[in-house]
Amino acid sequence: MDNEREARLRREAMAWLTTRTQDGARPISREELGDFTFDGAPFRLIPTQTGIWKPASLSAALTIVTNENSPYADGVGPDGLQRYNWRGLDPQHADNRALRAAMDARAPLIWLFGAGQAFYQPVFPVYLLREEPMEHRFVVVPEALLDVARYASPVEAELRRYLLRETRYRVHQPRFRATVLRAYEERCAVCNIGHPRLLDAAHIVADREDDGQPVVTNGLAMCKIHHAAYDARILGIRPDLVVQIRVDILTEVDGPMLRYGLQGRHNQPLMAVPRRRIERPDPDRLQVAFDAFRSAPG
Ligand SMILES: [Zn+2]
Repeated sequence: MDNEREARLRREAMAWLTTRTQDGARPISREELGDFTFDGAPFRLIPTQTGIWKPASLSAALTIVTNENSPYADGVGPDGLQRYNWRGLDPQHADNRALRAAMDARAPLIWLFGAGQAFYQPVFPVYLLREEPMEHRFVVVPEALLDVARYASPVEAELRRYLLRETRYRVHQPRFRATVLRAYEERCAVCNIGHPRLLDAAHIVADREDDGQPVVTNGLAMCKIHHAAYDARILGIRPDLVVQIRVDILTEVDGPMLRYGLQGRHNQPLMAVPRRRIERPDPDRLQVAFDAFRSAPG
């Protein structure tokens, strides 16, 4: 494939992903990834086995994959930017050469994050900014951060903080959302409403705090109202998954949202919880958040 056609393939693959994931709002299944075609023929976007995918017809890697249950598996460097590990330790392994070729050609890549069994949250386009051979890894940057990242160095603390924040927002947040919404089968844990556009992935312990990792056990799928009520400590969730509403709110008189949406949920168990036990909310984190709820001024 010549350079021009390869560049068009990358553009078309990303445009297709944009449509299929509703601009990144939803994850995509391995099966659905198989629907992509290029110039009328099926074209594989995801590797069968390893984390790095270089189709034989391309000059460089097209897709990198980070598996489920490893929120920071490849790590964030001291500059606040995400890293992607080599395959193994041999710099001349074909997969590592394919990554290096993508870096040298400044080719856009698709990054797929595992978000539940056989589901992936894509982040794209991303670029390999540089290689860290001693650490056996590459620096990965979402397109929007490329210009800033080029000039960042570990000594520039403010820039580092900015990049760290943006990396969370652009890389970890979409994956967190996808994983949590999948686990709750796109339902609000409190009221069971099932419209993805009205749902958020709420952190049980806020992500700026030490336990605030973007892992599914620190998440709850919640509609916008219940998410806001949870963050405002109007609504609390006990470690045994029973909803509590702040005392002063229970005695208020107002419209149906207050009556059914909040007061009606008091002392009720969560309406949606993940089927897989290992994806259910972590009781220790729930306790931390519930203590904060109980001590909130109301
Ligand atoms: Zn709700």
